[in-house]
Amino acid sequence: MITAIEKLSKILNLEKQRDYDNRSVFGGIEKILPSWKKEALFQNLSQDFINIVIENVEKYKYCSLQDRIILIETLRSLIDRDINNTKISSEILEEKPHPQELKSEPSLKNDSYGNTVLSKNPDIFEIEKALSKPVINVQGIGYNKAESLSRLGIFSIKDLIYFFPRKHEDYSVVKQINQLKFGETVSVVGIVKNIHTRKFKSGKQSITEIVIDDGTGNLRIIFFNQPFIERSIKQNTNIISSGKIEIYLGRFVMNNPEWAEIEQGGINPNRLFPYYPLTKSITQKWLRSIIYKQLNIWVPNIREFFSQEFLEKANLIDLQSALLNVHFPENEELKRKAEERFSFQDTFFLHLAMLQQKKEWQSVGAKRIQIDKNLLSDLISKIPFTLTNAQKNTINEIVEDLQTGRPMSRLIQGDVGSGKTIIASIIIAGVVKSGYQSAVMAPTGILADQLYTNIKNFLITNDLVKKNEICFLSGDTNNRQREIIKSGLLNGTIKVAIGTHALLEEPVQFKNLEFVVIDEQHRFGVMQRKKIREKGKTSHLLVMSATPIPRSLALTIFGDLDLSIIDEIPPGRKEVKTSIVYPTHREEIYALIRNQISSGLQAFIVFPLVEIEDPEMDETKAAVNEFKHLKSSIFPDLQMGLLHGRMKPEDKEKTMQDFRLNKFDILVSTTVIEVGVDIPNASIMVIEGANRFGLSQLHQLRGRVGRGDVQSYCILVPENEDAAENERLKAMVATNDGFKLAEIDLQQRGPGDFIGTRQSGFKEIRFSTIMDARLINKARKFAKEVLENDPNLININSYFYKLLISEYWQKMTGVKN
Ligand code: ADP
Ligand code: MG
Repeated sequence: MITAIEKLSKILNLEKQRDYDNRSVFGGIEKILPSWKKEALFQNLSQDFINIVIENVEKYKYCSLQDRIILIETLRSLIDRDINNTKISSEILEEKPHPQELKSEPSLKNDSYGNTVLSKNPDIFEIEKALSKPVINVQGIGYNKAESLSRLGIFSIKDLIYFFPRKHEDYSVVKQINQLKFGETVSVVGIVKNIHTRKFKSGKQSITEIVIDDGTGNLRIIFFNQPFIERSIKQNTNIISSGKIEIYLGRFVMNNPEWAEIEQGGINPNRLFPYYPLTKSITQKWLRSIIYKQLNIWVPNIREFFSQEFLEKANLIDLQSALLNVHFPENEELKRKAEERFSFQDTFFLHLAMLQQKKEWQSVGAKRIQIDKNLLSDLISKIPFTLTNAQKNTINEIVEDLQTGRPMSRLIQGDVGSGKTIIASIIIAGVVKSGYQSAVMAPTGILADQLYTNIKNFLITNDLVKKNEICFLSGDTNNRQREIIKSGLLNGTIKVAIGTHALLEEPVQFKNLEFVVIDEQHRFGVMQRKKIREKGKTSHLLVMSATPIPRSLALTIFGDLDLSIIDEIPPGRKEVKTSIVYPTHREEIYALIRNQISSGLQAFIVFPLVEIEDPEMDETKAAVNEFKHLKSSIFPDLQMGLLHGRMKPEDKEKTMQDFRLNKFDILVSTTVIEVGVDIPNASIMVIEGANRFGLSQLHQLRGRVGRGDVQSYCILVPENEDAAENERLKAMVATNDGFKLAEIDLQQRGPGDFIGTRQSGFKEIRFSTIMDARLINKARKFAKEVLENDPNLININSYFYKLLISEYWQKMTGVKN
């Protein structure tokens, strides 16, 4: 029988493996307690021990990550002691846990900036430990509030203090009521004379009316459907109310203003008022005052971890005033400086983590691959076009990387159609010539197949491989074929393997794989990078992404990779003519399609998810239906193909192959066509429901045409004429520059949507931070300098730095460093 101790220990270990996500038990680990307690009592475990376990396991779900780690470790060590059945006393729990870092703290030293190494002064640790306590320990926060706060991501006191406002309202300009003018937005301070809520007959709607008096007159304030306001605003208290002056029944009113009680949380009217993100049962007023109180308690104890010299050099304000002013700024200037300090800090530690990661990758040796210069120039001279300078530079950068003896980790950022494939092909040729194997991976079968065709043709025409020395491997490759490929890769007769990610996931062994290319990874997460690095520790890695993103952003999310940017489109290429055509003018589109096809060209028609009135209707069905309609009623005389995500991979590839071979004129498709597909003979891209797509995606889709030397067209068909919704489409018409569009997209949608921060692994990048190129460069520069002067971070404020680096890394990526 499994003992209570063993059971607990199992769960604790599982939690640790799962990075403390509180999921090792369905519904949270506290769910084991009722049955566990019974077993524990039955098995005669000491009451002390049982109590400690219950107490800690109960509060686990409210703990910050850091606190969870401490909690689990403490319980584990307790169990270890208990294994020999020694008596467990509660004082063990009182013992301070000692993280490794703290134990190995070197003696006092100064870093290049004069940051003193923390002494073993327990106070500081005490403060950190206290700060990492669950918010339930704060006066005024019970389990219900703690639960609500956890939904805002606030678990510990530290989280609370670092929970920054989403905005501030400037209440410093207070107007007298008798000076108010219609239509202006102002703040008014007055005493609440009267509160009254009226409910409408329906019972759902209500109006709460408040009258305030500032000595010069009365002002009516109205809240719609917020009956609870009556409980928060009390008669005869002083409130500040900020909003637009409107007229109702001939008198001035303010409707649904922002408001706050004065004297609450030390707020005085000459301040900028913080407004926090809220959630159920958390009010602005309550959160404001809790944060205010906690700031007062903790800020005086909080230690700066940058040295004075560092702060001056980086032009930052100190941590204490930054914390106060980020919440309750004394003025605009200090608010800005406080926000800048935290943005810098975020970026600095993130880059420090990235750079460390990069260093770690590079600390292992890799094969020095000397690419034959003659071969290179020979190959380049044989290509039917001239490489752009950006392409040449990138090739040179890679060639240099390959001979350093350290594993390359390079990302090529290039606009759609900027010609990344040829770069990979040329390098692979060089690697083959040097006698090593290469692997190329793409996210979809279609793309992998296309790469296979291109690279194979290139290598065979240039006499670098024979037909059976290059292979294609995907999840669908049959077993017989797979065995042949596996043995070929193992004994080295196969020089180049191209496929989907199955290639890395399968237990495929290579004889001497030294070069790995990953194509079209615009959502290439930190986690994935780490995985790939772990697999091919010493291989040279080249990642190619077709989502152009602003350099500053690229540096932030791919800071552990070296960056080559191809910001040049091959010359002579005609800009894709883009226009917006409303559904009422479809005939024009059909005419244009016919016109193109009559000159031997081909067309794409893409359908997104069409109206989901019918729950059965999805993207695939929409495309299928439209395809039927177009084929029977509009283009009965033309050859048409259909491509959607539910088709079998081999059917998809076949369809693409047929389209490439011009076996049909029109390809109707869902968005599976989005990335990378290269069919130079296609000259028209029609995007239906275009208003539903993001800019980057539209740009990707448009990039499927304009790849040959004929004039190409992109027709955007929005579902309606809603001007605001169609702003993006106008941007598409205005420019073909992917980098420009990326910036617009980023501004419009924020980083979350834009890079898919979840997939890319970045959960908490603050918008202002990643948009601020100057700040990013500054933070990166300082991070580099720190690492250069002290590669292992032993001399500087190491405990805090290490703590913060891993904290940031985890916060940003969810991955343990
Ligand atoms: P992407 O960067 O989007 O992956 P591809 O590598 O698919 O782009 O290249 C797009 C097209 O441009 C291909 O047909 C390729 O042969 C062609 N191409 C690449 N480089 C050049 C160049 N320097 N001049 C002209 N055409 C080029
Ligand atoms: Mg490509």
